[in-house]
Amino acid sequence: MMKDLPGDSKDHQLTVALRIRPMNEAEIEEGATLVAHKVDNQMVVLMDPSEDPDDVLRANRSREKTYMFDVAFDFTATQEDVYVATMKNLIEGVISGYNATVFAYGPTGTGKTYTMLGIDSEPGIYIRTLNDLFKAIEEASEDMDCSVYMSYLEIYNEMIRDLLNPASGYLDLREDAKGEIRIAGITEVSTSNAKEIMQLLTKGNKQRTQEPTAANKTSSRSHAILQVTVKQKSRVKNINEEVRVGKLFMVDLAGTERAAQDALGGNSRTVMITHISPASTNFEESRNTLIYADKAK
Ligand code: ADP
Ligand code: MG
Repeated sequence: MMKDLPGDSKDHQLTVALRIRPMNEAEIEEGATLVAHKVDNQMVVLMDPSEDPDDVLRANRSREKTYMFDVAFDFTATQEDVYVATMKNLIEGVISGYNATVFAYGPTGTGKTYTMLGIDSEPGIYIRTLNDLFKAIEEASEDMDCSVYMSYLEIYNEMIRDLLNPASGYLDLREDAKGEIRIAGITEVSTSNAKEIMQLLTKGNKQRTQEPTAANKTSSRSHAILQVTVKQKSRVKNINEEVRVGKLFMVDLAGTERAAQDALGGNSRTVMITHISPASTNFEESRNTLIYADKAK
């Protein structure tokens, strides 16, 4: 998916992070053991629970495989830790007219929505990013005149829905006069505070397409994309001054069991936050996810 991104250009930076969520009750109940853990801030180890320890010892092999990331988090990481080490660094860039993308990747139930949206008591990357974005805009407001617009959309079965206005049905991609691809008819809300955006998101999330999985739990099979556009002009009068536009995309991907990945990123600084369960019962999907994330680097 990210293979086409040139890694040597300053404008195409990709950071790959890994987050291992805590064991959950269902995993504990089924007698799962911990097979994934972080060794340090970049190194993660996954142990194959199906291999006999005596066999691997005799063969002078290891049951463990090591994977390296730009940054690794385990169950001790707070939402703030994850935010600070990933998205926070990109905020200044957005105000300077760069694009930034953060997306959550991994199988269903590994914590993607937890990282991006969070829960009431533990808000995620969306609101932390927006709070800091508005703070930075406030600080720059003596010299710069900024306006912020947001859209929230869902891609489900390759169809686009406006989560801020679901009644509009399915939307089309169109090329505008400048040759940029736009979503025709998408709602763009002009806003100036993070709380307002979170209220819109919470409302929008209720509109997401849900479908029961094989595991008989309700889980989202859709990609949700929050797009925040920052337009800014210098307050110093200059007729020829260009308006700088920075865009921020925050993407909560569907579970990777079925998702065919769209090329995200483009001319953008990108953070991919990969998610896995630590449990032996999810070993195979964790291994596949780690191998995929490793290739994305
Ligand atoms: P996904 O979006 O990848 O399908 P969720 O974000 O919905 O997964 O997470 C599944 C469940 O696990 C949720 O109940 C969520 O609150 C919980 N969870 C995920 N990650 C963490 C974490 N780091 N700490 C505590 N609970 C978590
Ligand atoms: Mg989710």
